[in-house]
Amino acid sequence: MLRTPNKRFLGVKAGVINCDLGMSKLFDIELERLTGQPSYSGAVRGAAAGQGGTFFLETFGCQMNDHDSEKVAGVLLSRGYRQVETPDAASLILYNTCSIREKAAQKVFSRLGEYREKQSEGKIIGVLGCVAQQEGEDIFKRAPWVSLVCGSASYSKLPEMISQLEAGNQRVTGLDTDTDETFETEVTRRDNPWRAYLTIIEGCDKACSYCVVPYTRGPERSRASDSILREVRQLAELGYSEVQLLGQTVNSYADPTARKMRFSELLLAVADVQGIRRVRFTTSHPSDFTPDIVEAIERQPKICDHVHLPVQSGSTRVLRTMQRTYSREEYLEKIAMMRGANRPIAITTDIIVGFPGETESDFEETISLLEEVRYTGLFAFKYSPRPNTPSLSMNDAIPEEEKGRRLAVVQEKQREIQAAGNAEMAGQTFEVLVSGKSRREYQWSGYTTSHRMISFASQERELLGTYVQVRVTGAGPNSLVGEHAV
Ligand code: SAM
Ligand code: SF4
Repeated sequence: MLRTPNKRFLGVKAGVINCDLGMSKLFDIELERLTGQPSYSGAVRGAAAGQGGTFFLETFGCQMNDHDSEKVAGVLLSRGYRQVETPDAASLILYNTCSIREKAAQKVFSRLGEYREKQSEGKIIGVLGCVAQQEGEDIFKRAPWVSLVCGSASYSKLPEMISQLEAGNQRVTGLDTDTDETFETEVTRRDNPWRAYLTIIEGCDKACSYCVVPYTRGPERSRASDSILREVRQLAELGYSEVQLLGQTVNSYADPTARKMRFSELLLAVADVQGIRRVRFTTSHPSDFTPDIVEAIERQPKICDHVHLPVQSGSTRVLRTMQRTYSREEYLEKIAMMRGANRPIAITTDIIVGFPGETESDFEETISLLEEVRYTGLFAFKYSPRPNTPSLSMNDAIPEEEKGRRLAVVQEKQREIQAAGNAEMAGQTFEVLVSGKSRREYQWSGYTTSHRMISFASQERELLGTYVQVRVTGAGPNSLVGEHAV
């Protein structure tokens, strides 16, 4: 068993930010180690401004939103704010929102409704993220008690906006999307003590006909490779051994520096950083999924054997109306490329059911694709019409009831496939990074390199954050059960 020295658990000392984690664990981040810089004149000035202030930050949506929130929290902590666990305890209440489906967007307005009276108690309420970008200043009309509206493409201006609020400004907005900046912060407050997220590409240029992301997150902007590698080295020094590179289309990465690193070269360079043991990346777009990425996975075992490759539909006709830029056959060629690799690669996907005009026979093609690919996991969604998207004006809407039926069929089919696939794992031994401890004594959980979750028994007293070998002894459709193989 290899123990990872985790330098983040350092105890309270000067220059350290105490962070209450969502996982109800207190851990300390040493400011200087996080920023890698010896002095923080900006942060110190800000600290005076936010001194005594507290913030509550709730996040909806995807991993990119989670990670944006880690950076927003970093900005606030370095200005002297303290993070609290309830809105009641906060002077600044922030919602980082998602508008990918209608339900997610509605949730935000119902949350805001709960805080109608809070502004009169002197609290500042802000809406960040995709709903902020989508609704813009209309949020002030629907919820006049909101003071800050900022979309993700304007996060680099957040410190400036917070200064304006601190100076007593009642309404501040950041809604530009025509920026070529990515959101880099001096300090990131990381929620996950085992896996560090890094956004390497923001926005999206793909224009799928159902999707709000190009409108809410703006055009594609890639972060400089040297800046990414610098952050990975800092993370490794902090004790992180697993990093996950993020982007809506992570593999469309286009290095803006003279080095012009390809995505596959970046994966290899990240894996070469001393101390890094696992490199993950998500989400990959099928059209930009090239053979060199598979070759990098084959060549470098630190690059995890898991690819999330959303297909959305198994019908070429539907893929065309979705403007997905590939056919069923072209998608299956990418799958064949991965299946031909010298290491097995776990593949997961996203599916949308009930897209306008999806016939029963189109839907059956999705089911037959699931049978053919045999994904290790999937996220399935009912099509949700979204503002500003081309599919909003398409005819042949599918009734909600029928969408629900198709969703249930997809989920049941996938359950069968996963149950059979997981049963085949019995008897095999995998390396697991331990990230969970059960209330039941001697029970632990963690992820394999292929991102399979395993719960397992071990007599060890402390395993969190370590890599162990686990032998699979049983399986259900959604997880594996095992025992520590010493
Ligand atoms: N960029 C990724 C890609 O190309 O697949 C996905 C990003 S999106 C945040 C995550 C998933 O949400 C998509 O893969 C899609 O399945 C789903 N999604 C996006 N827009 C949707 C909509 N209007 N209705 C239902 N599901 C949607
Ligand atoms: Fe949305 Fe398509 Fe871009 Fe993914 S690739 S974020 S689904 S527009």
